Amino acid sequence: MDLPLEEWRAHVHRRWRQLPPSAQTALGTSALREVLLHCSSLLQPEDEVFLKRLADGFSVEKDPDACLLYKEEGNKAFLKKAYQAATRLYSKGASHARPNTQEMSLCFANRSAAFFHLAQYETCLEDIGRAQRHGYPERLQPKLMLRKAECLMALGRRQEAALAIRDLEQSGAAQQASTGAPDLQALQRRLSHLKARVREDKAPTEAPPLGAAHASEEVGPRAKNERIPGASLSVSLCSDPSRGRYLIATEDVLPGELLVKEEAFVSVLNPGETVGLRCGPEVQQDGRVAPGDRHCHRCLKPIVATVPCQGCSYAKYCSEQCQQLAWEHYHRMECPLGGTLLTLGVFCHVALRTVLLAGLQAVSNLVKTVQGTVSSEAASVPDEQPPGQKLNTWADPAESNPRGGASGAPIPGCDRDGSYQSSYYTVFHLLPHTEKHSPEHKFLCGLSILALCRKLGDDDDWPPQAQGPSAQEAALATERTPEPSVWAEAMLRHVLQLHCNAQGVTALQEAGSEGDLVTERRQVRLATGLFPTISLLNHSCRPNTSLSFRGSVGFVYASRLIARGQEILHCYGPHEGRMDVATRQQKLRSQYFFDCHCQACQEEEAHGAGATPKQGGFRCPTCKATLQGLDPLGCSSRSCPAQVSRAHLLGQLGDLQQRVETAGELLRGDRTALAIQLLLACRREAEDFLTSEHVLMGEIEDHLAQAYASLGDWPRSAAHLRNSLQVVEAQHGPASVEIGHELFKLAQVLFNGFAVTEAVSVIEKAEKVLSLHFGPENEQVQELQQMKACLSEVPSLPVGPTA
Ligand SMILES: [Zn+2]
Ligand SMILES: [Zn+2]
Ligand SMILES: [Zn+2]
Ligand SMILES: [Zn+2]
Repeated sequence: MDLPLEEWRAHVHRRWRQLPPSAQTALGTSALREVLLHCSSLLQPEDEVFLKRLADGFSVEKDPDACLLYKEEGNKAFLKKAYQAATRLYSKGASHARPNTQEMSLCFANRSAAFFHLAQYETCLEDIGRAQRHGYPERLQPKLMLRKAECLMALGRRQEAALAIRDLEQSGAAQQASTGAPDLQALQRRLSHLKARVREDKAPTEAPPLGAAHASEEVGPRAKNERIPGASLSVSLCSDPSRGRYLIATEDVLPGELLVKEEAFVSVLNPGETVGLRCGPEVQQDGRVAPGDRHCHRCLKPIVATVPCQGCSYAKYCSEQCQQLAWEHYHRMECPLGGTLLTLGVFCHVALRTVLLAGLQAVSNLVKTVQGTVSSEAASVPDEQPPGQKLNTWADPAESNPRGGASGAPIPGCDRDGSYQSSYYTVFHLLPHTEKHSPEHKFLCGLSILALCRKLGDDDDWPPQAQGPSAQEAALATERTPEPSVWAEAMLRHVLQLHCNAQGVTALQEAGSEGDLVTERRQVRLATGLFPTISLLNHSCRPNTSLSFRGSVGFVYASRLIARGQEILHCYGPHEGRMDVATRQQKLRSQYFFDCHCQACQEEEAHGAGATPKQGGFRCPTCKATLQGLDPLGCSSRSCPAQVSRAHLLGQLGDLQQRVETAGELLRGDRTALAIQLLLACRREAEDFLTSEHVLMGEIEDHLAQAYASLGDWPRSAAHLRNSLQVVEAQHGPASVEIGHELFKLAQVLFNGFAVTEAVSVIEKAEKVLSLHFGPENEQVQELQQMKACLSEVPSLPVGPTA
């Protein structure tokens, strides 16, 4: 999803193969402007037609028929008392309705009724307001106003409730009700009942306490670092030729300490499964939600009641505020491009949003500095730089030789007093590694960006007018000229930067169905963003920090002790617990263009290929001792002559993996008994040729635990989880995030099974590990604390004959 759609990539690949060798060589250049000039002469009208056809395949426009369909389905769910599903279907309906229409107001009004039944009164009130703003029909008003009064009562806002009732009575509709149809008479009865309650209920009610979610926004590093935005005082920025820029600890840092809290400079929600978007509404009638529907397209927070974009059916927000801010800052330009952006992929989308957020002036100043047409002094961006400060004079770290800050040379991205600027200036100077990308990749990116710019060029609003007098020279960016604009150049730069600097924004999502007693959570990639400070962290396959997100804010916690002067390291993905050294090196080289020399890699390389890999090894078929060596593998027991070929073992492993996957599918399809049967057979086979700490062994145990939990067999479930914990600990270590999740599951199982003593001890362990990685405000940590509080109230069960 980061890269363009498969069909577009294949199309560009065909075009690439038809290019004369001279053109292919020309694209090997590392100057972005040259790349764009070449691509510009190669982009044909047929390419644009092809792109348009792909873009038209996405249903991102408002469709009145879909609105009706979803509303009907919502009503059906409502009648079946499936209120949660009903809210989702009404949200879908609202996203297809045009603003200020009866359809829109009805979707909101019906959704408010569903929220009322879910006792989510605040949200219900918001939806009532939305229904009224979009022109709710006069004749239906009494129903809505009565619901409002009931909500206010439920929230203990008695005076407002009384006012709402007075308004309702004065509206005259209620009077008609007394003589009108039976449902209006029922309304009248409810009204008088409510009035009686308002009179009786004299006791002043307390305002509801502010939720924990509110408090969590206040969390930040212990002491703020004035030089590195978002970092704590325990952190300092350094730079040297081999490592580039990096962060070190200026004092001993304890595990669990918050080191960086940074809001994304830019982030774009991943569309998730685009299949639904490409097939129209029929496939989604069941009210299931794609990730793009669960989170706000601006702040990435989970959405309770969707506020749809007024122009498309794709963008959705958590509130009117987010919707308006997104519209002002970027979405008014993006909205008509919905299908094109989905076709070109998230990286192109992030690149476009980055330049829209930065504004014309900042973009053109910086691009012209790199081109050398403007001196860097003139490129200083007034609204980003405090008065009196000058930008440093280096132009592009890719071209200059970065030298250490200590030697007096400025550190790239910093101003003269050494402060790191978290702004467009810094984002612009992240390394694009233009010289390292393949010519074909540059062709793909260049063609995609140019096609996007041409589409923008058809828009009269483009380029968006920035503030300030010099913005009048906006004509320089007009896309109808053959010259690629500064916009295109900046966007190409950002797309290439994203290859190494894109930060996946993740969230834990519950994978099971709603009523499950044990929640299966997995990390999902929610969005792609740029975080200037977090991207200063270098990679290690054995990191000493842990990165997590709340909405679009990233949090870096120390996951182990970091001694003063040590480098602060973060894992880009290839973690020692998940893959062997060869796979990691290959991944890091192809995506990030470097060889890893971290401690884990050095140790593993020193041991040679004969060592048992972290994921677990194989067992001898004859005597069950561990097998060693590369190919063929020999038995570690001296007295045993057995030898097995690697291919044979890998084939056996592949077969087993496939059966475990099938069992997983059976589990998800609620065919638990069959799944257990298959899993037990898999386990017997695994014991034959895999060591007990093999990853697949852990997976089998984890699946078995899940299966028994769904049957309510808590003791069996707990036994399998304990086995799985051992495997996870062997792979990832006792304080890893993976152990945290596994302990959380075990805590839930023990809690449900009332194994009070063990539950309390596991809860405490899980709490400790998870707050190390996610901080004390984390949802799972809070849940554990609630479980503990609940258990402390359970009277200890009678042991002897005293009862
Ligand atoms: Zn939001
Ligand atoms: Zn839109
Ligand atoms: Zn490494
Ligand atoms: Zn043997």
